[in-house]
Amino acid sequence: MSRRGEHPGDTLLRFTRRRSAAVGAARSSLRVALLAGLLLAAPAVADPPDPPEWTQPIAPFHLVGPIDYVGSKGIAAYLIHTSAGAILIDGTLPANADMIRSNVEARGVPIRDVKWILVSHAHWDHVGAVAALARMSGARVAAGAGDVAALEAGTPPGDVLYTPKRFTPVHVDRAIHDGDRVTLGTIAVTAHATPGHTPGCTSWTMQAAGRRVIFPCSITVAGNRLIGNKVYPEIVADFRQSFDKLGAMKADVVLPAHPEIADVIGRARSGRLVDPGLLPAIVAQSRSAFEAELRRQAATVAP
Ligand SMILES: [Zn+2]
Repeated sequence: MSRRGEHPGDTLLRFTRRRSAAVGAARSSLRVALLAGLLLAAPAVADPPDPPEWTQPIAPFHLVGPIDYVGSKGIAAYLIHTSAGAILIDGTLPANADMIRSNVEARGVPIRDVKWILVSHAHWDHVGAVAALARMSGARVAAGAGDVAALEAGTPPGDVLYTPKRFTPVHVDRAIHDGDRVTLGTIAVTAHATPGHTPGCTSWTMQAAGRRVIFPCSITVAGNRLIGNKVYPEIVADFRQSFDKLGAMKADVVLPAHPEIADVIGRARSGRLVDPGLLPAIVAQSRSAFEAELRRQAATVAP
């Protein structure tokens, strides 16, 4: 696991300290960092660009069983081959739509054969290209019920400590609830409601080549207001329940929306994708970072 995925709270802390000096510039920098849950370099004076790897192409490659990696270098999209077409998980950033299409087709799937696009959560770096990809493919879109309104408005959900980035509205064909299954051909993908990062944050699981695979939704605080959140008052309880839930799940292969969280690319290259200890490690680290950020926010807003 890379260091950058571990301490979103630190980013926020640094941001808060600098806030009085450079609110506008820092806010823009923070937005990028917090949406990703990444620890970036200190805020620059001018608006920084997105991390370049988010839109950097990488040759798509096989992961496990029917699952391929078809995302950019820094943001994941996963392709699941079935006997009746393919399922795509997430679309990545708006600028990547053609890249994702090319990657899908390079893995032998004409874009029109993508029948479902499953959404992890309604943040622009993961769903920015979904509307375009749904249009290209004719695929139906499935997303956690708690994120449907945000997706269809093109506005990320929640009360956050940064300026949210809008995205092209996504029509959701199927609102997903905990335990729902999306099936295509002989493949079934099961939804697990893991809210907190967004209200509809959805983790997906499936079996692949005898392995238990999870596509966990993001579990970083990532700039969410934890204290006095008016639009999502249950956010703290949701985060804790999601840590409990994910912490109790068993997975052999972890494929997150931010690939560096599980070093997906490095592990695939070196044949180390199977690691039953990885999910609990990620959850424990995220839980610890969450509690630290909760204490920090509580201290900040204390009367
Ligand atoms: Zn996010």
